[in-house]
Amino acid sequence: MNSTSTEQMGQVKDPSSMRAMLMEKPGVPLRLVTLPIPEPGPTQVLVKIIACGICRTDLHVVDGELPNPKLPLIPGHEIVGAVVRTGASVSAIRPGDRVGIPWLGYTCGTCRYCRRQQENLCERALFTGYTLDGGYAEYTVAYENYCFPLPERYAGPEGAPLLCAGLIGYRSYTMTGLNVQRLGMYGFGAAAHILAQVARYEGKEVYAFTSKGDEAAQSFAKKMGAVWAGSSLETPPHPLDAAIIFAPVGDLVPRALQCVDKGGVVVCGGIHMSDIPAFPYKWLWEERVIRSVANLTRQDGWDFLAMAPRIPIHTSTQHFALEQANEALDALRKGKISGAAVLVM
Ligand SMILES: [Zn+2]
Ligand SMILES: [Zn+2]
Repeated sequence: MNSTSTEQMGQVKDPSSMRAMLMEKPGVPLRLVTLPIPEPGPTQVLVKIIACGICRTDLHVVDGELPNPKLPLIPGHEIVGAVVRTGASVSAIRPGDRVGIPWLGYTCGTCRYCRRQQENLCERALFTGYTLDGGYAEYTVAYENYCFPLPERYAGPEGAPLLCAGLIGYRSYTMTGLNVQRLGMYGFGAAAHILAQVARYEGKEVYAFTSKGDEAAQSFAKKMGAVWAGSSLETPPHPLDAAIIFAPVGDLVPRALQCVDKGGVVVCGGIHMSDIPAFPYKWLWEERVIRSVANLTRQDGWDFLAMAPRIPIHTSTQHFALEQANEALDALRKGKISGAAVLVM
């Protein structure tokens, strides 16, 4: 709701308060509430949110499939915003800067994972929209060192899906290994439609797998440059060198394994998946690999956000108002989003 419509409704907005969609407990719809605008800590910045993408992980959070969320919680970890105020010790970011706030919100810097450049696995990491409040709101605070400066072209709703679908998708993509020519993607949503552009830019062939009969997703995949699109029950015309599974469906793991050639990698790109059924060892034999990807490092973000404008990546977004977050989540749950859903404040 913009200020004009607020005035039309005869309400006067308190300048120290903000609207947010709050998760009070998992499994119940988010509630529109008015909260005080948060105060940035010494190493944090206060950001006025321009847009926040809706990620499948948000569904896992609100549905209670991920343990121990902060409660109550403001979900959302694909945040694009403008810095309005900085904490006393903030040095590199200034008011007015456009920043992106990703899933990785804080790491300790001292655990054994942080010390060996695996901060994505930090033992004391905090995650935006899960263990820290996120972007389904008009304002948020974020640690300075975990914000990414955004190029102008991505400082609006189009940039939001890059912050997780793009960035963790890119990490999954880099885990497929060298010498990948034919790359399969299972689930052609926000992440795949971004990664297909990266793959094409690098001269790879994209094979898109969707739910059986989802012709809309298959034609969307072809529009985004896939050389082949079909159902996840089908075998592609050529064996794949690697596959990334974005859909949270464990059944797809043995299916993907049967479609990759010797030495091929199957990357599970999501944070949650239904159980993987048992399968014969011969499907894994010949050095096929199954692996997961967890979170992101800041280096992934810097690399990906430097690459995105060179391609340049375009995102296909479907916009919702903040108070429509429940409808947007439901549309994502039902596979009704083409590209990425974004809340625009
Ligand atoms: Zn750590
Ligand atoms: Zn995400």
